[in-house]
Amino acid sequence: MNKSLFTERILTKTAQAIRSGAKPFDKERLIHEITTDCFADEEEQKNWRPIVAQRIELLLSDEGTFISHIRDACRFCEEGRRRCTHVCPTDAIIHTADGVNIDWDRCIECGRCVDGCISGALVARSDFVKVASLLMRSDERPVYAILAPAFVGQFGEISPAKLKGALIQLGFDGVYEVAMAADVITSREAEELVERFHRGDRFMITSCCCPVFMRLVEKTKPALVELVSRSVSPMIALGRLLKAREECKVVFIGPCVAKK
Ligand code: SF4
Ligand code: SF4
Repeated sequence: MNKSLFTERILTKTAQAIRSGAKPFDKERLIHEITTDCFADEEEQKNWRPIVAQRIELLLSDEGTFISHIRDACRFCEEGRRRCTHVCPTDAIIHTADGVNIDWDRCIECGRCVDGCISGALVARSDFVKVASLLMRSDERPVYAILAPAFVGQFGEISPAKLKGALIQLGFDGVYEVAMAADVITSREAEELVERFHRGDRFMITSCCCPVFMRLVEKTKPALVELVSRSVSPMIALGRLLKAREECKVVFIGPCVAKK
């Protein structure tokens, strides 16, 4: 089973089914198509059918914790191959007779286990439905897309102008680069550093763009929290700038699940 093909099929086929406008769309047919596309063997198709069904349900739901777990998918993972445990940097994953459990007091929501899981048993919370419903009601208030700088490498040969055009066609009212706010935040952090030196601090920790870093400090080195810069991330700063200008909704598009 090719996990990225599996995930991509679920996303694109579900999106196509929703866009076709059929209400409710034919979920059974969708499950059948994805299962037969991704698994050649009939026995495999039978085993994976309920897992495909659960993944579609999770994609269509905007509730739940940062990561959901599909217990059935772990049946195919032998003890020595449990990559979720090996990649977790904070030992937050515990295996019990009941399956995988995440200790949320330790979890820093980095998403490494989602990438590492060989079977797609761990699924990051989806904002798919939330964004689709915002776009469907964009005549009530504008919806803006804000892009993480990684978009330049993420979409291969697609030029920024083409990407912007595609997002506008999807229904966004405007597209902005988060890098714009990163400049503002860098200058704010420089001011904060000077203020701290005048106050007698010896140094300041700064990596405000990364929520995982912030959670790591909070959960594993709480004594260092007061040394962390108080600046918000460029993503938050740009969202606030746009919302200060007018009543609108802002959707962040980036490569990292940790920013959800
Ligand atoms: S999200 Fe990160 S910290 Fe949380 S369980 Fe997964 S790998 Fe561990
Ligand atoms: S979550 Fe994924 S990697 Fe972890 S035991 Fe289950 S199938 Fe294996």
